[in-house]
Amino acid sequence: MLQLGKAGRCAWRPVSLVRCKTTLIMGPPGGGKGTISKKLIKDFNFHHISTGDLLRTQVRLGTPQGLKAKSYMESGDLVPDELIIDMVLSKVEDISSSRVLLDGFPRTRVQAEALDKKKQVEIAINLAVPNEEIVRRTSSRWIHPGSGRTYAYDYNPPKEEGKDDETGESLIQRDDDKPAAVKARLQEYDNQTLPLLDYYKEKGCLRQFDGSDNPDLVAKDRRSDAIYASLKPFMQGSLG
Ligand code: ADP
Repeated sequence: MLQLGKAGRCAWRPVSLVRCKTTLIMGPPGGGKGTISKKLIKDFNFHHISTGDLLRTQVRLGTPQGLKAKSYMESGDLVPDELIIDMVLSKVEDISSSRVLLDGFPRTRVQAEALDKKKQVEIAINLAVPNEEIVRRTSSRWIHPGSGRTYAYDYNPPKEEGKDDETGESLIQRDDDKPAAVKARLQEYDNQTLPLLDYYKEKGCLRQFDGSDNPDLVAKDRRSDAIYASLKPFMQGSLG
C-alpha cells in the first residue's frame, strides 16, 4: 500500500495489512470531483459515495433529512455536520467493497474527525482548480432534472440547446450553480474545507493535482483530463 510520508514522499507497506482503502476526493465546488470520480470508478472499481448526490436524492424524495438540507444547499451553504455525518457514516459501515471513494466528504474538521473514528483514510486527493475557472465552469453547467444527466456548454454541450439528448426535455441550472450561490460555496470552501488540506498533509496522506504536468490539456480548457493523466498512474501505483 502506498502511504505518503509527512514530507509528501511515499513509503510502502504490504497490501495485506490493509482491509479497506478509503480514498477521498476533495476540491472546490465545481472543480471536477464528479467527472474525475467517474473515471476512478471505471478504472479502479471503487464503491463511490457522493454526498452531493446522496443529499440531492433525499431532497427529491422529500425525506426529513432532505427537507432539512434543501435550504442550505440552495443558498450554497454546507448542510449541518450532524446531518451529513449520520448519512455518510451509516453508508460507509454497510460497504463490503475493499475500495471506497468518498466524494465531497469530509468538508469540515468535525466531519474529518468523525470519519477518522470509523475508517482510515489512505489517500486524500485534492483537485487544485483556480476560482476563475470554477465560476466559468459552473455557469455553463446545466442538468436534466429527471435523470441527473449533466451538460457543460463548453465541453459536452447537448445536441440541441437547452434540451436533454435522450428525452428532449428542458435542461435547468442547479440553484446552487447560480452566480450568488457559487460565490457562497467558494467562500464556504475557503473557510471550512481548505484547512482540511493541512489536516491530511499532517497525516501524510494528501496528494494534490492541478493538471500542470499536462499544460497542453489545461490550455485547451480540459483541466480534468490533465489532472487525470497524472492521477491515474499515481492510483495504479498506490492501489496495485
Ligand atoms: P459541489 O462540490 O459542486 O459543491 P456537491 O454536489 O458535492 O457539489 O454538493 C452540493 C451541496 O451539497 C453543497 O453545496 C452542500 O450544500 C451540500 N454538501 C455536500 N457534501 C457536503 C458535506 N460533506 N458537508 C456539508 N454539506 C455538503
